[in-house]
Amino acid sequence: MRARAVRAALADCQLCVHRCGVNRLAGERGPCGAGLESRFFSLQTEVSDELELIPTFAITFSGCDLRCPFCITAPPSWQADLGQRLSAAEVAHRAMQALEQGARTIMFLGGEPTIHLATVLDVISLLPDSARLIWKTNGRCTAEARRWLEGLIEGWVVDFKFGNPDCSRRLVGDSGYMTAVQETLVWAAEHSDLVVRHLVMPGHVACCWQPVAAWLAERLPGVKVNLRTGFWPARMMAGFPELQRFVEPEEAQQASRIATQYQLRLIS
Ligand code: SF4
Repeated sequence: MRARAVRAALADCQLCVHRCGVNRLAGERGPCGAGLESRFFSLQTEVSDELELIPTFAITFSGCDLRCPFCITAPPSWQADLGQRLSAAEVAHRAMQALEQGARTIMFLGGEPTIHLATVLDVISLLPDSARLIWKTNGRCTAEARRWLEGLIEGWVVDFKFGNPDCSRRLVGDSGYMTAVQETLVWAAEHSDLVVRHLVMPGHVACCWQPVAAWLAERLPGVKVNLRTGFWPARMMAGFPELQRFVEPEEAQQASRIATQYQLRLIS
């Protein structure tokens, strides 16, 4: 029922904070590029996520509503028209096979899974209630999208990338990024088991990680935080000179000191 309702709501799509309102049923596309049909960038069992989640069967959708210049999987994961075309039944079947073979969780990710919410709900409807479902997101879903997922997802893994409006505007063109992600984090902490991820970016420890850490300590004390320092200067860095290198050891140490200062609960 939820999948049908979400599909009908694509006539005026409000799934992510772009709220572009295009009619995806009529073939219109918004900034995410997603239409009616979902495609899959990959489906495989993975072991590089949080230890409490792995091995996880990762259902990776094509297409994203954000354009981070440091994205290591773009452009394939940005383009909703690329990737495999699979039915919800086929995806669910492969997920259940993975569970039988030892996967502990099933993870929906992208790109960004929010923009494919109707397909996600189709897949969930075919999975056993006992399946542990994980939602890995950039956190820019709207309240409506979150409500459609309520009660279905055991764990949310949310990226909190930028710590001030200037950096988010400069890097992804969204000065409202923090407000959107913070709303999602508060909701996810109330409705699920939440892990917050922060990828330390070179040159952005003081301006981004410090305020993210301070906010987490104040608003979500005790929340699980995965602080990642393996930034990979993969691509599209021409306009962002500070991102054309790896994170220096001193920056990683500084990030750890900030986590300690705010008494964050770090996990790996
Ligand atoms: S999910 Fe895509 S179509 Fe829907 S509001 Fe966001 S950008 Fe627009």
